[in-house]
Amino acid sequence: MTASLVDIGANLTKPVFQADFDAVLARAAAAGVSAIVVTGTTLLGSHEACRLAQRRAHGTMSLFATAGVHPHYATTLSPQAISELQTLLARPEVVAVGECGLDYHRNLSPPDVQRRSFEAQLELAAAVRKPVFLHDRSATADFADILRRWRTRITGGVVHCFTGDRAALDAYLALDMHIGITGWICDSRRGSHLRDLVKLVPRGRLLVETDAPFLMPQDLPNPPPRRGKFDRNEPAFVAHVARVVAEHRGESFEDQALRRPVGSRGGLAAGGGAACAVRPRVKPRGQEARRASA
Ligand SMILES: [Zn+2]
Repeated sequence: MTASLVDIGANLTKPVFQADFDAVLARAAAAGVSAIVVTGTTLLGSHEACRLAQRRAHGTMSLFATAGVHPHYATTLSPQAISELQTLLARPEVVAVGECGLDYHRNLSPPDVQRRSFEAQLELAAAVRKPVFLHDRSATADFADILRRWRTRITGGVVHCFTGDRAALDAYLALDMHIGITGWICDSRRGSHLRDLVKLVPRGRLLVETDAPFLMPQDLPNPPPRRGKFDRNEPAFVAHVARVVAEHRGESFEDQALRRPVGSRGGLAAGGGAACAVRPRVKPRGQEARRASA
């Protein structure tokens, strides 16, 4: 294995990973993944993500966590929740605030509550001086407006699971955000526009992630057997996402995405972004990518 990958977003606190958690990590390590950022989407989930990250911080796989409240659950962000998130964010293994942002696609919380929750978490990010892990679905105008107002106060962030159009990409890049690409790019029906857009993301601004257990890459060469009705994605498959991204950027596997570690602790935390996707230990270039794109 020639590269050291970071899956910057995996929902490993989901019950679907409970039975074979260690095997999931082992498969990720075998695929070249050296670190995973476990996404916190609720207060409880953020505590759990932090617990996983503490347990594994010194094992073979480095686990990190985010702490925040997803826009779906914006109504749950009480002052007490903010103070608990702030305590979690004081820990070194909790590397970003989020996931937070806006989701007008499903509006599971009312839009005005989502906007307040988003701003409260940007304020938190400014206070703790950690980057933000962001979610925007069907809300780009409001999302970019709010982020623009806070931009000078926060250290940086990643718009995770980017699925938007050229205008959205331009808006995020103008705000000096990192762009997180998932297996959405592998979906020939919904994600084909991303194959051109990834070419426009500057080096050092592109991150890869699985968003596991969701968003199983549709074109995985040897997909695992389905688990009932559910096609469970897992961090090992971030290597496939990285290869597909590399292929469409005309780069080698090792070359693609971010290779400049940001901050400390395995290239995660602090500075301009939430994490780095590929840290090359690297030697031979090309061979892996050629094999992958064959
Ligand atoms: Zn999301």
